[in-house]
Amino acid sequence: PLRDDDSHYFQSYGENDIHAVMIQDKVRTASYAQFIQSSPELFHDAVVLDVGCGTGILSLFAARAGARRVIAVDASPIAEKARQIVRDNGLEDVITVVRGRIEDIQLPEEVAEHGVDVIVSEWMGYALLYESMLDSVLHARDRFLRKDGGVMAPGQCKMQLCLCEGAEIFKERVGFWGDVYGFDLSAMGTDIYDDAIVDVVGPETVISEPCTVKDLDLASITPKQLDFSAPFTLTSTSPQRTKAHALALYFDVFFTADGAPIAPDTRVRVVREGDPVVAEVWPLGGRPHPGRRMSSGQGLKDGEGAKRRVTSFSTGPASVPTHWKQTLFLLKEPITMHEGTVVQGTFKCRKSSENSRELDVEIHYTVKNPDEEGQAPGKVMVQL
Ligand code: SAH
Repeated sequence: PLRDDDSHYFQSYGENDIHAVMIQDKVRTASYAQFIQSSPELFHDAVVLDVGCGTGILSLFAARAGARRVIAVDASPIAEKARQIVRDNGLEDVITVVRGRIEDIQLPEEVAEHGVDVIVSEWMGYALLYESMLDSVLHARDRFLRKDGGVMAPGQCKMQLCLCEGAEIFKERVGFWGDVYGFDLSAMGTDIYDDAIVDVVGPETVISEPCTVKDLDLASITPKQLDFSAPFTLTSTSPQRTKAHALALYFDVFFTADGAPIAPDTRVRVVREGDPVVAEVWPLGGRPHPGRRMSSGQGLKDGEGAKRRVTSFSTGPASVPTHWKQTLFLLKEPITMHEGTVVQGTFKCRKSSENSRELDVEIHYTVKNPDEEGQAPGKVMVQL
């Protein structure tokens, strides 16, 4: 029996529209296609588990990449469509669709016995962890992934935080209530600080370096570690005085054929620009570039260390927008930023006690200016 929030959740994935949005998100879908179809060493002759297959698109990519057997699992009514789609493409000998929660289903005996070689899944929600589907994927990992050398795809995700000018968003969501046909409706704008805003902000509105608040290694992270608190330091990139109206949260996703995460101090050379970025990574042990975009890797020396190929995409303001957009937290007191301003604090994220698919985010910070009187510490508390 499904819990209440689960039955509604799976019902919502029975609608065609949501699958259209995901499949038409080219950055998302092309990244999976690119990785799966150009990693024969991983997929050829492999047994693959697709957790939350939806229309079955990732299973189709895996079959095209030469997988021997693909098990496609989804609890939503969309699984019936996936079954039809597999038949329509003549792949029923390779792909088996199983309808049910991944936590409840049994895999075919011959598959369960050895464990699967690869788990592919597109489980990411707004701000990465909204929906809490990752818990189900980790459950599948512990139950079904081969213990020696099984690979998670994607293998790594980073949650990034940065400061954002956000004056546009502020005006759109709060400011305009102050004068509506000459009346003051600003009472309408006061609750806005209790919710996160999902919207796209332009790269020009970002006014700090990003900071990684969570680096998830999918091979080893545990469900418990998904409730976390992390310190952050955001350094201004704005030479002139600017006001930061919001903190922006987004995530970067990485695929490697060995499933191992990319160390923070690796150097990166981009071999294909665009979305997804395809890059080669060397463990050269250079200076760490926390949260730096893959595509910004420069000045590399070739031929040192063991070279690895990475496919990655970012949902950040500097990249082509995805259906995840960015998650924005409006600040009650905008922060005055200029050269040398540093904002330090802690970022807390945990499952909401009311609905385990929702998140409680709590951010506390202080502002340090090199040559000015301090600004009052601030906090953000929102439900997502
Ligand atoms: N893989 C598809 C769909 C991704 S959306 C694509 O890339 O287009 C996530 C899907 O996972 C939804 O269809 C949802 O119903 C399914 N899902 C989420 N949690 C699940 C669980 N615990 N067991 C089975 N399916 C699940």
